Amino acid sequence: MTEKSSVRVFDEDQIRENLLRILETAGKYRAEVVAATKTVPADIINFAGENGLHYMGENRVQELEEKLPSLRFDPDHIHFIGRLQTNKVRKIIGRVGLIHSLDSAALAAEISKRSVAAGIVTPCLVEINSGLEEAKGGVPAESAGAFIESVAALPGVSVTGLMSIGPYEENKDDYRPYFEKVASVFRELSDSGMLGTDPQLSMGMSDNYLLALEYGATMIRPGTAIFGKR
Ligand SMILES: *Cc1c(COP(=O)(O)O)cnc(C)c1O
Repeated sequence: MTEKSSVRVFDEDQIRENLLRILETAGKYRAEVVAATKTVPADIINFAGENGLHYMGENRVQELEEKLPSLRFDPDHIHFIGRLQTNKVRKIIGRVGLIHSLDSAALAAEISKRSVAAGIVTPCLVEINSGLEEAKGGVPAESAGAFIESVAALPGVSVTGLMSIGPYEENKDDYRPYFEKVASVFRELSDSGMLGTDPQLSMGMSDNYLLALEYGATMIRPGTAIFGKR
């Protein structure tokens, strides 16, 4: 009877230590930490909240719905960072402060429609597919401006920045071209006023958030580096 246990143990001391280190680093760049909390139970997310974490990002609508009643976070500070299907949009409108993963006209139209019905405008980041990976969502960096113009007239959507995931690289320096590309499109669009008065650039995960900060990320999304391996 030596089956491996699949119960995940969260080490609160370790989480606090990880979190404080990352918050301090992000603070030097005046960037926010949006912890990626997929598979992390609500009580552990709340523990992080008590230790200085202000923002969290969920990936799946159902998981978000399950955790919402238990989360002690400002609703505006709960973000949606995963791939979003149009038929699930209505379940999260009014319950998240920012959607990081707007990447199609159909999704924008649905977010707008549901937001108008709820009497709100939903802030969204346009997801950039910086590695042009077919399996991942996102708009090619070159088309971001045209895409934002195409959704500008929608009354229920406000595009406030860009988000990027990018491919996984063994060698951290190999992330540089992707970050450079997204950062340069971000500068161009924010300079032209297309991203509003407080433009946000969401990029960098556990593996590469330091580099992302160097390239001007205003939000980083570490998960594993805070909560441990999934
Ligand atoms: C899981 C996830 C992250 C965090 O990934 P880690 O490697 O655990 O830091 C960030 N962004 C998105 C969109 C994710 O799905």
